[in-house]
Amino acid sequence: MALMITDECISCGLCIDDCPNEAITEGEPFFINPELCTECVGFFDDPQCVNACPVEAIGACGKSANRPTIRAAGRRAAAG
Ligand code: SF4
Ligand code: SF4
Repeated sequence: MALMITDECISCGLCIDDCPNEAITEGEPFFINPELCTECVGFFDDPQCVNACPVEAIGACGKSANRPTIRAAGRRAAAG
């Protein structure tokens, strides 16, 4: 499942360089390509963009999710 960026995004750009899949595109708000985002599975234990975002603008698709929820989802995915 891919993550998405909400309207809370302030376009600071901190997330873009941390994405191992180059899934994030600049904009207002920034955009995560759901075809490319793997929630960082295979690269990191946690979604790197979520860790980087200062305003918690990144959540699960279709709803905003808090960081522990996203991290738990990432761990479940990583455990396979
Ligand atoms: S969760 Fe990982 S792969 Fe998906 S957009 Fe964020 S940094 Fe990129
Ligand atoms: S780190 Fe957060 S606020 Fe900054 S560009 Fe990425 S999603 Fe937007």
